[in-house]
Parts: sequence; C-alpha cells; structure tokens
Amino acid sequence: MNSKIEKRLHDLGIWYREEYDGSMNRLVIYPECKYRRDTAYFECPFCVNKYKLNGNPYKYAKPVIHTHGRGDNWGERSPHCSTQARDQYGLKCYSFHILRPNFTLSFK
Ligand SMILES: [Zn+2]
Repeated sequence: MNSKIEKRLHDLGIWYREEYDGSMNRLVIYPECKYRRDTAYFECPFCVNKYKLNGNPYKYAKPVIHTHGRGDNWGERSPHCSTQARDQYGLKCYSFHILRPNFTLSFK
C-alpha cells in the first residue's frame, strides 16, 4: 500500500488491513456502512463525482456512494471505483469488507 492511500484512510478514520493471499498483498478496507432495505452503502474514500480532463479531482467534488451487499451478501466485495480514483491513488489490489448491519468492529 502506498502512502497516499494510507494517509487518505487515516484522515478519514477508516479501518483497513493488508492480507497476504499467497502471491501478493491485498488491501482490505472496512468502510463505515449504512443500510437501506438490506443494502449496504458507503461513501467511497477514493472516488469523487467530478474530475478534470487531466484526471485530477475538482477541489469541491463530493465523495461517491457505492452500494454493496444484500441479504447474506456481506463480506469482501470487489471495488466499483472509477479508473480516475484508481489512478489518482495508485490503487491496485484491494477490496471493501462489508459488515452485516449492527455488527461492530472490535479493535484489538
Ligand atoms: Zn470508489
């Protein structure tokens, strides 16, 4: 994970961990989810709604909402992030971990 990603997640107070899957390190991000009719959604720490032509985000662009999970469909999900966000942060191998509603992370 590069320092840009680390700083962003730190600034937002989002919990994450790195996992070695046998061939590479994968970043697993635990966004703070909200739920609506059994569907999890969260503000993406990386994607925003407005980018300039050169790929940089506009200063006052707003975070994009991603939805993931429904019913028993919790756990790790592939990201839906834009190519601009992936380029901006150098995001490669990562996923979002969606927690069940009312599930609280315990910090050790
Ligand atoms: Zn995103």
